[in-house]
Amino acid sequence: MPEGDTIFRAARTLHQALAGRVVTRFETALAPLAAVDVSTPIAGRRVERVLSAGKHLIIDFSDGLHLRTHMRMNGSWHIYRLDERWRRPRRDMRIVITTDAFVAVGFNIPVAEFLDVRGLERQEDLRRIGPDLLGHFDPDEAFRRIRARGDAEIANVLLNQRVIAGIGNVFKSEILFVCNVNPFDRVETLPDATLREIIRVSEKLLRVNVREGEPAQRRTTGSLDRSRPLWVYQRHGDTCRRCRTPIEYGKQGSDARGTYWCPRCQKPAPS
Ligand SMILES: [Zn+2]
Repeated sequence: MPEGDTIFRAARTLHQALAGRVVTRFETALAPLAAVDVSTPIAGRRVERVLSAGKHLIIDFSDGLHLRTHMRMNGSWHIYRLDERWRRPRRDMRIVITTDAFVAVGFNIPVAEFLDVRGLERQEDLRRIGPDLLGHFDPDEAFRRIRARGDAEIANVLLNQRVIAGIGNVFKSEILFVCNVNPFDRVETLPDATLREIIRVSEKLLRVNVREGEPAQRRTTGSLDRSRPLWVYQRHGDTCRRCRTPIEYGKQGSDARGTYWCPRCQKPAPS
């Protein structure tokens, strides 16, 4: 049975061959895939990314379509030039993705399904594959996932590990303060540049945090002065370090997580 690192290498190879290329032909011998009703055919879509998540291999196509496959015991993916002879018999073929330069052939793949963005998020086995701020982080994918949350409040979205992995309740408040974003703003009211900035700051703060490592500084987000390491978290009633306005506190989301913000530095976005 292929281990995770095998799938990781397979995903990397497929990604290098396919990413950015437009699918010219899609074939499958898997009835569930052939029967699926997707609004746009696979042919014509661009392959955006191929990634592994545990033992799953996921191919992201343009317009928010994802193909999840699982190798189980005998499945494998091969990459061939268009005129190259396959090293396995055609009867073992389950999925063929053809582009202008390469063809990816999935042999004996037992598990495969198309998913839209929400389906991918709901897929039980894939719950932990949100772009990991401390892993091989993909800010574009994080952006797409955050943007896809539409009417959700930004602070709740940042806690959703299926959207972006690594942010906890402390950083949620701190990141949004640094970015001057109100935690109750709905994603759809925030411009692209703001979401990009939130992602950039999130990655920076978490990576700095890991580098520094020691507990006293682990949560430093505002200042390197250890006597006042946080901008807003658990500071309700205290004054904002930037503008002297009292920090506010509220419960937010279905889990009623505590959120802290400065009402002056973090004014609600116009909706
Ligand atoms: Zn302030």
